[in-house]
Amino acid sequence: MQNLRFADPNFPKPIAIILPQNVDQIKSVVLCARNASCKIIIRSGGHSYEGTSSTIDTASTANTPVPFVIMDLMNLNRVTVDLEDKSAWVEGGATLGETYYAIANATNYYGFSAGSCPTVGIGGHISGGGFGLLSRKYGVAADNVLDALLVDANGKLLDRESMGEDVFWAIRGGGGGVWGVVYAWKINLLKVPPIVTTFIVSRQGTKTQIANLIAKWQLVAPNLGDDFYLSCFVGAGLPETTTHVGISVTFKGFYLGPKNQTQFFIHQVFPELGIVEQDCSEMSWIQSIVFFSDLSPGSSVHNLQDRYLQNKACFKAKSDYVHTPISHDGIWVALNHLEKEPKGYVILDPYGGNMDRISTESIAFPHRKGNLYTIQYMVEWSQQENNEKREDYIKWLRAFYSAMAPYVSWGPRAAYINYIDFDLGVMVTKDHDDDDDQLFDPVEIARVWGEKYFLNNFDRLVRAKTLIDPYNVFSNQQSIPPNNSNLVSLRRSE
Ligand SMILES: Cc1cc2nc3c(=O)[nH]c(=O)nc-3n(C[C@H](O)[C@H](O)[C@H](O)COP(=O)(O)OP(=O)(O)OC[C@H]3O[C@@H](n4cnc5c(N)ncnc54)[C@H](O)[C@@H]3O)c2cc1C
Repeated sequence: MQNLRFADPNFPKPIAIILPQNVDQIKSVVLCARNASCKIIIRSGGHSYEGTSSTIDTASTANTPVPFVIMDLMNLNRVTVDLEDKSAWVEGGATLGETYYAIANATNYYGFSAGSCPTVGIGGHISGGGFGLLSRKYGVAADNVLDALLVDANGKLLDRESMGEDVFWAIRGGGGGVWGVVYAWKINLLKVPPIVTTFIVSRQGTKTQIANLIAKWQLVAPNLGDDFYLSCFVGAGLPETTTHVGISVTFKGFYLGPKNQTQFFIHQVFPELGIVEQDCSEMSWIQSIVFFSDLSPGSSVHNLQDRYLQNKACFKAKSDYVHTPISHDGIWVALNHLEKEPKGYVILDPYGGNMDRISTESIAFPHRKGNLYTIQYMVEWSQQENNEKREDYIKWLRAFYSAMAPYVSWGPRAAYINYIDFDLGVMVTKDHDDDDDQLFDPVEIARVWGEKYFLNNFDRLVRAKTLIDPYNVFSNQQSIPPNNSNLVSLRRSE
């Protein structure tokens, strides 16, 4: 469990945590749990922002607790690279770090496009999309999936052909824990040059100076060439490298080429950043993964295989997409909020590049043309503070999100499923005594958050869910429901 918010004793605990060793055991767990009317929760890297791989909904089960098991795939973490085919089979419990490590062990010429935190699991990550440093060049992780092996609610193992194109479409970005258990993904290896360039620079200053840098960043970063990635972190906490107190902004830069070109190109379009060649370091692609990984100083490529997240905390996050550059007023609103809470920060991830060219309908993950960047709002606190101050931190985050409404995507206000956020709405359970079935329509309830995560892909996802899991065996509070489903069917009493 990577978000310690869900370690709180008040959250329901599983009756067992099961660690399958092979795909046959996955099938057995599914059948056995269903026979025992137990709910099944799947865990890969355990990073779910809302604890969907650790616990179940407390609100709707308060009266009738649902027994559940966690199927933890940590022992299914093999990565088999096929250089001739330029692909790899990755078991659903492997982490991104284990995946990157295995690819780099086999070749210096290929990498993969996915997130930068090595302990994130490939199971949950690809299920929700998977944005990273190579996404402006190659799209999200889910864009680069060639095949998958899925154990469905009947314990059957399906590949791309046998699950059918609708389901194969849905599992690539339609959210984790919804369709069945992804035993393995077949991913496409992606070409990387022998040398890439990285930099991380922090800038402090007055609020006006910081606002000007952010204003310029949002014009520059989404329009850089596909080989560039330049993200922006803003917060009032202390950047590790300085003793400055107050708002600061940190830029993380990555370029698929040498450092003289990096410095030249960035200086041309963003001279205010003041990047000099000494800020930039040349390294191999796999070393750049370590560089951006947040592993402790001195870590090496081997440490990418460590499954344990260092510096665990409790956190709550929310997300937005930005279609038109945020005005100076909007940036000031953000800075005023950030200034009040040093434990909060935002991460602005640039889209554009190839993210603009891939069609919205090509896979379930829909956020493409027209998005300049995502905003990830985050607040973190220690486990010791969890009881006393959790609500204050969450209240601050909600107020910040609410204040940003006029400046971000609208109709719907879009969100990223990998930054799952139960504030957008959750499924309610139909009451046994409620005779009015007509009024209880899970699809319409789920549309409220479903269209924020999936835009116009929501209805196709419902059709795919109805095909693959009509009894809603795999579900969480925000999962796609099957059509005409009755959520109480999971209850033991039935
Ligand atoms: C520190 C940190 C850094 C992150 N960085 C990035 C980033 O750079 N880019 C980005 O896009 N996202 C990022 N994320 C978000 C991350 O992609 C999602 O939280 C993702 O869902 C985590 O996957 P997981 O397997 O680690 O989590 P889990 O909690 O194990 O799984 C998440 C969901 O997927 C389901 N699931 C897991 N495995 C399977 C499987 N094999 N089959 C079916 N369902 C499954 C689970 O039931 C759960 O509902 C980050 C998150 C954290 C905490």
